[in-house]
Amino acid sequence: MITLDHVTVQYPEVTPLDEVDLTFEPGTTAVMGPSGSGKSTLLRVISGMQRPTSGAVAIDGVSVAAASWRSAGDPRVSLIHQDYRLVPFLTVAQNMLLAAELRGVRRSGADVGAMLERVGLPPSMGRRLPTKLSGGQQQRVAIARALLAGTSVLLADEPTGALDVDNTERIADILVELGRRDGLVVVVATHDPRVAERMDHRIQLARGKLVAAP
Ligand code: ADP
Ligand code: MG
Repeated sequence: MITLDHVTVQYPEVTPLDEVDLTFEPGTTAVMGPSGSGKSTLLRVISGMQRPTSGAVAIDGVSVAAASWRSAGDPRVSLIHQDYRLVPFLTVAQNMLLAAELRGVRRSGADVGAMLERVGLPPSMGRRLPTKLSGGQQQRVAIARALLAGTSVLLADEPTGALDVDNTERIADILVELGRRDGLVVVVATHDPRVAERMDHRIQLARGKLVAAP
C-alpha cells in the first residue's frame, strides 16, 4: 500500500500537489485530470525520484528512501512512460537485465524469457533491438523490464499515449492482470477514458487537489 500524507510540491508559480492525502491499495488506480494538473508530479514523488516540498510518502509503512531522491528512485517502484524509454543500442534482454542489475537483483536468461511471456511476448524477442519492435511491443518490454527488477509498485505515466486502440487494450489487460492476479499496486496516469474505466479505482486531480472522479 502507498500512503501520501499531506504531500505538497510547490514551485514559484504553481503548486502541482497541494496537501494531498491519498492511499493506493494493491490493484489498479487511474489518475485522471487535465494537462498540468499534477499527474506526472504525483508519480515522480511516489517513485522517489522527486522529493516533495513537504509531506511524507510511504510504501507499506516504510518511507520512500531519502537516498533515492538522488538516484534512480525507490527500488520498490518502477515507472514506465509514454515513450517506453528502452536503451536503443541494447537488446531487449540486455535492457531488462540492466534494470535488474541497477537494482542489485540477479536474474538469468530464463527469468527474462519468463517475464516476456508474462506480457505476451515470445522469449526469442529478448535477442531483438527495441527499435525494431512496434510501440505496443516496446511498451510490453518496458513492463517486463519493470517486473524483472522485482518491484511491487508499478507506475505508468500515459502508458498508452502513443498506441493505437488494439495495443491500448492489450496494455490495459496486462496492467489489470498485474493488479488483480499478482497483487501489485498499479497507478496509471491517463487521459484515455477507455483505459481509466478498466481500472479498479479512479481519482482525479485539478490544480493540485483531489476532486471527485468522473
Ligand atoms: P500533468 O502530468 O498532469 O500534465 P505535471 O505534473 O507534469 O502535470 O505538471 C503540473 C504542473 O507543475 C504544471 O503546471 C507544470 O508546468 C508544473 N511543473 C512541473 N515540473 C516543474 C518544474 N520542474 N518547475 C516548475 N514547474 C513545474
Ligand atoms: Mg504528465
